[in-house]
Amino acid sequence: MPYSFSSPYLNSHVNWLKGNLHAHTTESDGARPPQEVIDSYAAHGYDFLCISDHDVLVDPSKLDSRGMTLIPGNEVTANGPHILHVDARTVVPPDPDRQKVLSGVADDHGFAVVPHPNWEEDFNHCPQSLLESWKGYIGVEVYNGVVRRLEGSPVATDRWDMLLSKGRRIWGFAHDDSHRPCDDEIGWDVVQSDDRSAKAIVTALREGRFYASTGVSIESVQVHGKTAKIVTRDAECIIAFSNFGHREAKAEDREMVFTLPEHPDFTYVRFECWGRGERMAWSQPLFVEKD
Ligand SMILES: [Zn+2]
Ligand SMILES: [Zn+2]
Repeated sequence: MPYSFSSPYLNSHVNWLKGNLHAHTTESDGARPPQEVIDSYAAHGYDFLCISDHDVLVDPSKLDSRGMTLIPGNEVTANGPHILHVDARTVVPPDPDRQKVLSGVADDHGFAVVPHPNWEEDFNHCPQSLLESWKGYIGVEVYNGVVRRLEGSPVATDRWDMLLSKGRRIWGFAHDDSHRPCDDEIGWDVVQSDDRSAKAIVTALREGRFYASTGVSIESVQVHGKTAKIVTRDAECIIAFSNFGHREAKAEDREMVFTLPEHPDFTYVRFECWGRGERMAWSQPLFVEKD
């Protein structure tokens, strides 16, 4: 068996925790004060939330978490493409050289995600050449909720597939980028973790132990050697994508079993789970390893 999958997911059953890492408040250009945003997400049944105001760090320890796990963060905004800074202790100065920002995020012991690359009239808030040259971010938003009502596309799986195909091992996130109540609960991350602490959730996110969703629920992603099995609660169709967006398989079902061919000509497989209406879920990539 010369080839097998490596997977970020745990095969054994664990809890799934739902959260959003991208929300704005009146501390920057959001419509609601921080506590109101927290109250809204708690009422929607979220397990964790990161308030990520533009170039401002809101201290969550001064707020009532309403039972959620609050992760401190901010969005580096001025002077260039935005960078989401999660698990932040400080605000990294918005240097026009975003590689310096990414280094600053690493020095701060947080992690960076590139938000809404396909936002704006040219669908190019963050040029692909920058995404390819930057080092030190762990993922991109493959779905950004607020862009639904703005210019450009909320979806950025095209950017993700291009990066993955060039050997970058990065994760796909879905976030609301909430500025108003109408932006809440559009896109979220669902983390595989029994432990609800911020440290455990951040570790799971860093390791890719989560999926991105706009409504479809994934129950498990299990890998045994060269076979992967994904089970959802409510997908109507699952598509397995590989390098440069090539379709490897499709099942009009809530689950799919995918077995690697003897000599795969691709380096990863990721699953898109399509449900009713605009409901979707995106698994993280499973990488093809040569034994
Ligand atoms: Zn932004
Ligand atoms: Zn934002």
